[in-house]
Amino acid sequence: VNIQEVHNHLISHNIKPSVQRVTIMQYLLEHHTHPTIDQIYNDLVPSMPTLSKTTVYNTLKLFYDKQAVTALFIDEKSVRYDGDTTVHAHFRCKNCGAVYDVPLEKSDIPPYRGNPDFYPGETQVYFLGTCKKCIKNQ
Ligand SMILES: [Zn+2]
Ligand SMILES: [Zn+2]
Repeated sequence: VNIQEVHNHLISHNIKPSVQRVTIMQYLLEHHTHPTIDQIYNDLVPSMPTLSKTTVYNTLKLFYDKQAVTALFIDEKSVRYDGDTTVHAHFRCKNCGAVYDVPLEKSDIPPYRGNPDFYPGETQVYFLGTCKKCIKNQ
């Protein structure tokens, strides 16, 4: 993913493209591993020694508020982030913790049948199970 595309992506979500924001967004667009804040920080800090965990946290919070990323609450230990905001589901391996993308049609999303006074803004579809690698190693 080239820097100019990342720049434009941020601007299209009303985010001022600072060097750190561009670096973090580029990382998310290139790594579809659904990383946690710790993983993003640990991968980026060697090439960006001035980076702090607080900056990564605040940047991800901003991206999420501006709907430039999806936050996944699939992991009981920490939030995962996804730079791919198109409609898709996720599969989390309960054994190794890896999170994989799963295709999902808009028409697959279950309709909201709850209290009409509530406004559902977002639906996330998760599958939990065992991934191919872990089945092989069993
Ligand atoms: Zn696994
Ligand atoms: Zn995903």
